[in-house]
Amino acid sequence: MTGTYHIWTIGCQMNEADSRHLASQLEALGFSETNRAEDADLAVLNTCVVRQQPEDKAVRKLTSLGGIKGSRRPGMIIALMGCMVGKREAEDLAEQFPFIDVFTAPSQTDALIEYLLQHDAYSHLNKVQVELADYRLPAVNRDKAITAFVPVTLGCSHVCSYCIIPYRRGPDRSRKPEEVLDEVRSLAAQGIKEVNLLGQIVDRYGFDLEEGINLAWLLKEVAKVDGILRVRFLTSHPAYMDEELIRTVAETEKVCPYFEIPFQAGSDRILESMRRGYTQADYRDIVSNIRRWIPDASINTDVIVGYPGESEEDFLETMNLTEELRLDMHHIAKYSPRPRTLSAKMKDDVSTEEKERRRTVLDERVTKINAEKSQKILGETVEVLVEEFQEKKNRWRGRTPHNKLVFFEDDANRLGQLVSVKIEWAGPFSLIGVPLA
Ligand code: SAH
Repeated sequence: MTGTYHIWTIGCQMNEADSRHLASQLEALGFSETNRAEDADLAVLNTCVVRQQPEDKAVRKLTSLGGIKGSRRPGMIIALMGCMVGKREAEDLAEQFPFIDVFTAPSQTDALIEYLLQHDAYSHLNKVQVELADYRLPAVNRDKAITAFVPVTLGCSHVCSYCIIPYRRGPDRSRKPEEVLDEVRSLAAQGIKEVNLLGQIVDRYGFDLEEGINLAWLLKEVAKVDGILRVRFLTSHPAYMDEELIRTVAETEKVCPYFEIPFQAGSDRILESMRRGYTQADYRDIVSNIRRWIPDASINTDVIVGYPGESEEDFLETMNLTEELRLDMHHIAKYSPRPRTLSAKMKDDVSTEEKERRRTVLDERVTKINAEKSQKILGETVEVLVEEFQEKKNRWRGRTPHNKLVFFEDDANRLGQLVSVKIEWAGPFSLIGVPLA
């Protein structure tokens, strides 16, 4: 046996996907997983810095691991991965946390694999065991999951004023379609039923590839792969959400009627300062266009409250837009200044208390909207793709095409199946029902 590894992951689905990919590579090298980072021969922290809070969490985890390494596990390898590691940051981090052995930029696990191959303790490893492909090995469904995340657009070039991602994940580029489709086929052969195509701006897919290759095309190709029952894509930017894409979602059966399109703010003044590249009216048009093609489409969004200069009036515009559009899920974040971003140079002038107040007010409002919308599903029969059995609660967990969470009890093994479930209880964030025979 080579040794044990543990990957600690925080942040977006892209990080989840990167961690799964790294795990496949490590298993190919003969490493086996252990539950606690503290016990591992190789501890990897896959980090997020989109707001101060996840960054603080990662620093606490790192500091505690450093302590353990220093006091009783000197041979432990500590790897730092994800968005804490940008091109410029590694040097500073190495000074601040001298116990880190290796740095790996987001979606680029090669540096870690190279490091291991050159490390004395692992010199017996055969380099041929790992194919240092451009981005990844053929995906391995290690944990027998039903859904998988497949990155298709890496990085981001949009440079929204508040966002650190372009500085840490680099400029955007599309993965080659053959590579994506090979990965999907390999996942399908290993039991994956639902594929989520990922990108910071996933609807930019193909802008750097040959004519005719775009997200709409890719969705159709992925939907053709044998064994794949459902396809989703996230996150979309309003500027690239065109009619062709919306029609493709409407007309391709396996592509779920589900969109993730952040609007971030309702006020045009704030949207302009954020450099989002659209107005409130543009966003409204996109929502009506989606609903024209797919009347019951599920649309999730992200909102930031307390952006620099956001007045009560601006905030009320966000409230009003939310009220008017009645979207499905809202991820609300309190503005957090991030190093090197444009808005970090602006005065962070909405107080912590006021940010919290705005978050709470908006959250209460959207929870009420969710609860009201959810009531409409009561008594209906929905199609659930079953993802997991929850031992403790003795129930199955799955999702509808609209990405609503559903729980139901059934003695039969339903894992990975599409089950018709009649909804008998509907809360703001989940549904409970009974399976139909
Ligand atoms: N690429 C996506 C979002 C990626 S980050 C987009 O185009 O919007 C995920 C979410 O984190 C963002 O949608 C935003 O709501 C939030 N976020 C990003 N930077 C933030 C910051 N500095 N403060 C608070 N929230 C932030």
